[in-house]
Amino acid sequence: MSDDTSTKSKSPLAGLSLTFLAPAPDAVTASVATEKTSGEPVSARVVIVGSGPAGLTAAIYTARANLQPIVIGGVVGGGQLMITSEVENYPGFPNGIQGPELMGLFKAQAERFGAKIIDADVDRVDLSSRPFRLWAGGIEYRADAVIVATGAEALWLGLDSETRLRGRGVSACATCDGFFFRDKEIAVVGGGDSALEEALYLTHFASMVHVIHRRAGFRGSKIMQARAASHPKIELHLNRTIEEVLGEDHVEALRLGKTDEPGEERLAVQGLFVAIGHRPNVAVFQGWLESDDKGYLRTEGATTASNIEGVFVAGDVDDHRYRQAVTAAGEGCRAAIDAERWLEEQAAIGKQATAGIA
Ligand code: NDP
Repeated sequence: MSDDTSTKSKSPLAGLSLTFLAPAPDAVTASVATEKTSGEPVSARVVIVGSGPAGLTAAIYTARANLQPIVIGGVVGGGQLMITSEVENYPGFPNGIQGPELMGLFKAQAERFGAKIIDADVDRVDLSSRPFRLWAGGIEYRADAVIVATGAEALWLGLDSETRLRGRGVSACATCDGFFFRDKEIAVVGGGDSALEEALYLTHFASMVHVIHRRAGFRGSKIMQARAASHPKIELHLNRTIEEVLGEDHVEALRLGKTDEPGEERLAVQGLFVAIGHRPNVAVFQGWLESDDKGYLRTEGATTASNIEGVFVAGDVDDHRYRQAVTAAGEGCRAAIDAERWLEEQAAIGKQATAGIA
């Protein structure tokens, strides 16, 4: 991993533990397990699934509402910003901040108000009745309300050669692996902001970064395009597709197809970073929560409510339009408020029923 927390000294929370990787997943899961007799379910008012900007913002808000949320954050917590380098557009950080450091700050803030963060993946859910049931790390969790903030994950090209050489020069994480390509010639595939941002970041290590995009026009923002186009260490290859990643034990070259003219070409590089977009993480909720035609979860009207009462949705898992850390955080806030109000309504209904009020 690259030293993404090297800017800690600039942090307003310098000195706090900002990492998602400690304590070890088993230790965290065990600490929750010991609160109950082994094998007994762990109950919570709110369980939040996912620990990116949406999940942790929902945790901050529900924790401050005394709902003592449990965040089942994934074995690798923190979401997409953990594999992002410099974040320049998150408000409040005029000099920018490294993605992992930003997520460390979110986590510290949620824990400060009592949110419990579990480093495990949810394997299975049962949303057929309340309390809802979720299983993660061998423990059953029961929740009066659930907030789904599982985000979206990086897409791959789908080439056999890409899969074979993954970890041997092929990567989807410039922040994690850029360091290994010091003074080497590498390529980034994609035409969105991720590809342009990764290319710019990789110029800190590589001797030359080739950006390969299948069309003539970029999808990324104008400012990132201008920066990439004018960078002396970046060369743009437009109307090019990657047909094969060449090399036995490690990446040695790319076989490129041309979309504007016949023929192919070979580009000698020692690394390939794939930055072609994301897929929403919905597998565990399939059959329970409704999705749109792109696979992103649906919400009801202007709220974060899903098709199941008491289950709310926030962040990139329902947003293929904006997909920004700040919009995900905003949605986490909305989901927390929706969940809190819904729980209050349920409590009021329960009290009326107990008092015999029709
Ligand atoms: P995008 O969906 O915006 O871009 C994906 C790119 O990959 C497109 O250019 C697409 O080509 C190309 N692509 C997709 N599939 C393939 C394939 N099979 N082969 C070759 N190329 C392919 O995804 P990003 O991850 O770049 O960005 C997602 C969102 O996050 C955007 O809204 C972006 O603005 C935002 N973002 C913001 C950042 C920031 O502000 N710091 C940093 C990173 C992302 P085509 O254009 O032809 O469809």
